[in-house]
Amino acid sequence: MQHIDLREKIIKTALQLNSRGLSAGSSGNVSARVNGGFLITPSGVKYHKLRAEDIVFMDMDGKTQGDFLPSSEWRFHLDIYKSRRVAKAIVHAHPPYSTALACLDKDIPSFHYMVAMAGGKDIRCCKYEPFGTVELSEAVLEAMVGRRACLMSHHGLLAFGDNLEKAMSLAVEVEVLAQQYQLVLQMGEPKLLSEAEMEDVLHRFWTYGDNAQKIEDEKRRKPRKSWQSNITYPKRGNFYKLPEEKDSL
Ligand code: 13P
Ligand code: ZN
Repeated sequence: MQHIDLREKIIKTALQLNSRGLSAGSSGNVSARVNGGFLITPSGVKYHKLRAEDIVFMDMDGKTQGDFLPSSEWRFHLDIYKSRRVAKAIVHAHPPYSTALACLDKDIPSFHYMVAMAGGKDIRCCKYEPFGTVELSEAVLEAMVGRRACLMSHHGLLAFGDNLEKAMSLAVEVEVLAQQYQLVLQMGEPKLLSEAEMEDVLHRFWTYGDNAQKIEDEKRRKPRKSWQSNITYPKRGNFYKLPEEKDSL
């Protein structure tokens, strides 16, 4: 069996859906990209019962290998891996606060600067389509343009990242924002951050945390004369499209 470590990490992430309160029972699903396709949790199996061999391999044509059926949501996992080459892992969940907003078809607007964590000035809610359908996948892809996460109407949320930890932490971040937004709404109508303020935040995120480290590493690796021409800082106005994604959407 290939990718034992990654299969174990998928199970660990799926268990966190339960332990971190993001999904009850076997709702939600988790996947990670591998050469030629991706690994995904099987459909309807309780996470505490999962063994490495139960994780299903799916190739980019939708053909599977494994004893179990893949998650009923394999379609949007496949379509995201096909259209967003920076997506390396995906987490889908039904957390209470995000789902509550999604049941009102509400986006999460720029009430807090951390909304930019999902890649743009808001976190959209895709339109309702039944679970497991091509239509749901299309709705999700539309809401995810320029974003790494979205809410799903009358359903839940999904997030992707460079790896399972990042996809999971973005899902948690979105759930916290959904909770904060609902607290704010109970107290009044929040003043939203403007487009310019959110653009400023998005730009700051590019020189913060992991990105700052990458830029520093790059500077150290390259001789002083040449590094500047090799680093592309995103331009204001379109930097919510991550530079490496420009050709994929
Ligand atoms: P699966 O168990 O088939 O992954 O379905 C769970 C779910 O959340 C459907 O939207
Ligand atoms: Zn679901």
